[in-house]
Amino acid sequence: MSFGTAPSIPTELAQYNSYIDGPKWQTKFTIVWCSVLAAAVAACAPALISRLRRGVAFAGVTGLGDDWGRSYESVPSAEMKDVKTSRSSAYGLLSAAGRWLGYSPIGTGLTVAQILLCAGYIALVLGCVLTNAPLIDNPNRAGFLALAQLPPVFLFATKNSLLSILLGGAGAYDKLNYVHRWTGRGLFLAAVVHGALWIRNHLQYDLQILGSDKETTGVAALACLCLIVLLSVRPVRAFAYQFFFYTHVCLYVAFFVCVCYHTIYAAPWIFPPIALYAADVLMRMLRFRIKDATLVPVGNEMTLIKVHNVSGSYAPGAHFRVRVLAGSHILESHPLTIASAPLTHTVTSSHSLLLAARNTGDWSRSLSSYARAEGERLALLDPKKPTKEYEVGVGRDEADGAEVQVTLDGPYGGLSLDLGDYESALLIAGGAGMSAILGVLDDIVGRVVRLGRKGGEKTRRIQIVWCIRSFGAIDWFATPLHNILTAASHPSANLDVHLSVFVTCLCNPSAVPALPNSAVSVARPVLHSLLREFISPSSSSSSPEDVESQEDLVAASSLPSPEDKFTPAKKASEQEDDAPLRADASVLKARWLAPHAGGGVAVAAAGPEALCRDARNAVARLGAGEVRRAGGVAVGVEVFAL
Ligand SMILES: Cc1cc2nc3c(=O)[nH]c(=O)nc-3n(C[C@H](O)[C@H](O)[C@H](O)COP(=O)(O)OP(=O)(O)OC[C@H]3O[C@@H](n4cnc5c(N)ncnc54)[C@H](O)[C@@H]3O)c2cc1C
Repeated sequence: MSFGTAPSIPTELAQYNSYIDGPKWQTKFTIVWCSVLAAAVAACAPALISRLRRGVAFAGVTGLGDDWGRSYESVPSAEMKDVKTSRSSAYGLLSAAGRWLGYSPIGTGLTVAQILLCAGYIALVLGCVLTNAPLIDNPNRAGFLALAQLPPVFLFATKNSLLSILLGGAGAYDKLNYVHRWTGRGLFLAAVVHGALWIRNHLQYDLQILGSDKETTGVAALACLCLIVLLSVRPVRAFAYQFFFYTHVCLYVAFFVCVCYHTIYAAPWIFPPIALYAADVLMRMLRFRIKDATLVPVGNEMTLIKVHNVSGSYAPGAHFRVRVLAGSHILESHPLTIASAPLTHTVTSSHSLLLAARNTGDWSRSLSSYARAEGERLALLDPKKPTKEYEVGVGRDEADGAEVQVTLDGPYGGLSLDLGDYESALLIAGGAGMSAILGVLDDIVGRVVRLGRKGGEKTRRIQIVWCIRSFGAIDWFATPLHNILTAASHPSANLDVHLSVFVTCLCNPSAVPALPNSAVSVARPVLHSLLREFISPSSSSSSPEDVESQEDLVAASSLPSPEDKFTPAKKASEQEDDAPLRADASVLKARWLAPHAGGGVAVAAAGPEALCRDARNAVARLGAGEVRRAGGVAVGVEVFAL
């Protein structure tokens, strides 16, 4: 006897089952964000192929190597390859059409493209939470969506992931940190909707909110998330970074424990973050190195860290997380950017990897004090030792520094564009941001001069703009700058490199060291005008009135009072015996190599967030025609803040 098939309930009459509906929306959500990520990786494929061809795609993945006793080789006269400088016109068109995406509205810390991405992400979360969900009666869908966001939150938080290899410099953790923050906010939003509506529901039906395990662990998990959000706002990160970091880690562990007790549906979403974190720790162990280093204090504001016996390659603009195993802050690791190119092609005449820490807070000041105290202690031990005069181009005496050991975790990140792909490059540094620009500059000059444009480097014109508060700051990097500028002027290099230093305070002009191809002025540059002038130099730029026209590029409001106003030309005429300043004036009148039409322009900026934003906006404000004629203008920034 057959009873037929069991009667089925029409869908419109079926009772809502959040445990069937929730996982379906989790799957949809995961498919969408993974597809967007795959599209981003596909868009970056040409850059990945170019890095693979140049053999730098895996640079630094297993950390740096040891280099014992190999001496620095002086610049050989490498045979220069003849290089075609023009870029494809399609690139110019694309760059012109998309330049506004790089605009960064004040106060957001993000570009238009990044804002669109984050808005799209939040819209996706809201769409998945709200679409046809009876949230008031059963807000479980929001809880499921909160869980589904754990993998992206952790993917963009880890320092080592496949993404950083696939996306290159653009995929480094510091560049993608904003995605971590916004995915975290999406998770918090979904969790708050879930928690708040259940609390409302309990209040409506007069049920106990705390009592049973389910409710108590749910409230505890939500409390952990609230604390994570509160303790990671920008002021906390800026004023108490270590506190932020340790509470962040502890609260996430607590959240995981609570949420696993709260629901059996959490476990599958906890495993991917744990796997990502484990892979991150494993990679960090592979990259971790302990090295000998010398701390050399420069003035009262900077400490150079010269790390010895390192070899291996890394991307220009990459940074290490550095721990100095001396002094009072040995547990803290801080990001510092590498200020020199790999030994294979550096032109700084140094055998050490250079890092530089500006005195900004407890850690950097204690580093400087330690180096100074050690220097004084050694001087007392050996009073006969003559105090050596520091000479530009000769090198700061490392024997006066403090010998320490440092741990290096990295290298991470680096500039998201390769200067060698562009005929012209405008490098903009703010204060200690010069360390990143130095690394980038040393790299490109080394590839041109020492390696003879082996990789087809197109670069012919480089303008460096360095904004500093006082003249003394030039001293921080005077030696490597001198060496790089001298190497770049090698006749066969066909490379035109200029340095313009903009000082915003008239403190001690006589302290300006003599650097080739450089100019110093007391002013704050208007980056947009500088970029315009750089892309299409006006006819006046090589005229004798160049100093005046150069002054047009500076913000009048930031100039000191007229009697303080210092221009290289004026100073040169007043102080005939001041060689460096006279050289500055003549450099301002120097003639640029004329840019080829369509050779492409790269703009790289490093340092404070405001300066990097100005650099981005300077590019975004260029006219479409200007960008197209220039062969495309690309911008990459290294912001010295997370
Ligand atoms: C990718 C990157 C590269 C950097 N490269 C350089 C460099 O080459 N030279 C240089 O002088 N500075 C660099 N900085 C900035 C430098 O890391 C901070 O100035 C340094 O950590 C200050 O620590 P502090 O305790 O002396 O000062 P604090 O007053 O404690 O901090 C000053 C600022 O640094 C941030 N900060 C503090 N500790 C850390 C940390 N462990 N990780 C991340 N940020 C932190 C704080 O949020 C705050 O905004 C870089 C920053 C980043 C993110």
